[in-house]
Amino acid sequence: MGKKNKTEFGCKQIQPMIPGYLDETLDMDSARIFTEHVKKCAVCRDELEISYLLKFGIEKVERGETINLTEDLDRTISDTEETMMRLTQFHTAVKLIEGTAVFMLCVCILLLYI
Ligand SMILES: [Zn+2]
Repeated sequence: MGKKNKTEFGCKQIQPMIPGYLDETLDMDSARIFTEHVKKCAVCRDELEISYLLKFGIEKVERGETINLTEDLDRTISDTEETMMRLTQFHTAVKLIEGTAVFMLCVCILLLYI
């Protein structure tokens, strides 16, 4: 029995997303895949920490703020997750409203012909 490599999203796909993640330019699906991967994968998490430090660390030190990398990153990741959750809820609500609207329209059309 050979080891199966997961063909879904591997580190090779995740790591190029790091700059986009820090710039908040990833689309919702990519951001979701990214955060899920980074939470499980120490290698990509390390890469993210380095990029995060390079991007925001110097700035923070210049402003005299303290850096707590793990805490900061955890907050950034949970912020993303929260945003995605809200977006998902919003999309579900919109779909529900749309569904109801279409249903009501059908009922109205039906009633007109009865
Ligand atoms: Zn990885």
